[in-house]
Amino acid sequence: MPEPQNFMRVPDPTPKRTLYTDAMEIFHRAADTIGLAPRVRLELEEPDYEHIFYVTAKLKDRLRPLHPEAARSFGDLPVTQVRDPNGLERLADGQILLNGKALLGSDVVIRRGHLRLPDGGVYQLIPGESQRFKAYRVQHNQARGPYKGGIRYHREVSLDLFKALAAEMTWKTAIAEVPFGGGKGGIQIDPRQYGKEELEAITLRFMYKLKRLIGPNIDIPAPDVGTNGEIMALMMRQYLDGERERHVGRAIVTGKDVRIGGSEGRVKATGQGVVYCIEDYYADRGETLKGKTFSVQGFGNVGSNAAEIFAGLGGRLLAVNDSDGTIFNPDGIDVPALLTYVQDPKNLKRSVAGFPGAQKIEKKDFWEVQTEVLIPAALGGEITGEVAERLRCKLIAEGANGPTTPEADRVLLKRGIDLIPDIIANAGGVTVSYYEWIQNKRMESWTESEVNAKLEHALKRNYRIIRDISRNTPRKTEMHDSRPFCVGKQVEPRLAAMILALKRIEAHYVIEGFSQ
Ligand code: NAD
Repeated sequence: MPEPQNFMRVPDPTPKRTLYTDAMEIFHRAADTIGLAPRVRLELEEPDYEHIFYVTAKLKDRLRPLHPEAARSFGDLPVTQVRDPNGLERLADGQILLNGKALLGSDVVIRRGHLRLPDGGVYQLIPGESQRFKAYRVQHNQARGPYKGGIRYHREVSLDLFKALAAEMTWKTAIAEVPFGGGKGGIQIDPRQYGKEELEAITLRFMYKLKRLIGPNIDIPAPDVGTNGEIMALMMRQYLDGERERHVGRAIVTGKDVRIGGSEGRVKATGQGVVYCIEDYYADRGETLKGKTFSVQGFGNVGSNAAEIFAGLGGRLLAVNDSDGTIFNPDGIDVPALLTYVQDPKNLKRSVAGFPGAQKIEKKDFWEVQTEVLIPAALGGEITGEVAERLRCKLIAEGANGPTTPEADRVLLKRGIDLIPDIIANAGGVTVSYYEWIQNKRMESWTESEVNAKLEHALKRNYRIIRDISRNTPRKTEMHDSRPFCVGKQVEPRLAAMILALKRIEAHYVIEGFSQ
């Protein structure tokens, strides 16, 4: 008998290697090491919820620069004198956005849909169209508290990536001892190619759809790559608009501007946390950060703040790589001058490329710069096995999420390069997000030194527990107690961190049981 045709055949569930399965490798190793209860393992190895939805927005009219070759046929096109140049918004990809009534009252000369601006360039007028964007929110686990995790606006995102990042938040919140679970989400978009008002419209629409899935006691977003306090402000407003008790709902997002309920110290918190961990790593060896050389990949929120704080403690920054270039100065890069350069509004890509106080080098050479410490603070998967073979640093402090591949981990172990794993090194952000959340709930505001003192204690205490697990030295000191977590043998730091996370999460399932 012929097989019944099935046009909707489900593919074979053969497990294949993905970014998520790679990221979960360490989870499975830790689960095996501690003999994690099988049901808890099932609960944790896939997220609670995976949301995918779509956001549409109407884009603005744009001027697209014409290649000088093509512009020649417009040789005698007169210049359009723009009455209100503030209405023109230059984007990182060279296009110019027409905000409001940018050309109103100007002497506009348009020929075949093209005009010439006072800068001499010829531009094609592109009418604004509506566009659709893919959006995600993965809610991984809430055994220890509401889902918590950042919002990423980036072109290279996927469900698999957000699953990995959401799971990482579950481990991180457990390690940092904040009463949250893990989540992550965002939009597939390159924010640098859109204007401020367009991003506002996209963000509002995003929150309009997200609102039914989240809440201050359910799931609390924060900034991540490509988003910041301004985006958080928009998300908060959209969530609270029209709510009768809107002020008690401020805790819906963290990473807000301090003037609207954000916490002092939150902007710097992740970079600050990275440096607290590095400081403790050296303190354990009886050393300080004075004179220590370091390099940083990514000079955004995490990388630039870590660099500024590290340099402030006497460290010397030798090299920086970001998505648009790499710079190197063997005598040390002047970090405040680099910050001014990157933050200059004329620096549209916010890049270190072209910084006059350093020489340009290739990205491949960045990895071979000899330093004590390397801080990856860009995207995941950057330190591959091949890169790890070439590194000439002694310690990697992971500012980024998942910057080191499992293969690279094995190489680092073999080469004796030390590691402070991401789930403790960059936990400063979520820790201060928790402080922001408490302040919002209590309608309080704490000073930066209060925040930093708490943060320093939380990170150093938990980093010491991880070190003890790693070295198998169970002990109780005034600051920490690692006895319940050591496993009777030495393990590498990343496994030690995961063991700490799993033991803390497992306790909830073991003591509370499972809801039916
Ligand atoms: P950001 O958007 O402020 O900065 C990202 C930086 O990385 C930019 O300098 C960019 O040029 C660079 N970059 C991007 N792609 C690159 C590439 N392919 N090669 C080299 N450089 C590249 O982002 P951020 O908030 O600083 O986050 C950086 C990392 O830290 C991410 O992995 C993020 O998940 C992680 N993280 C951030 C926080 C936080 O509080 N912001 C907290 C924990 C972890």
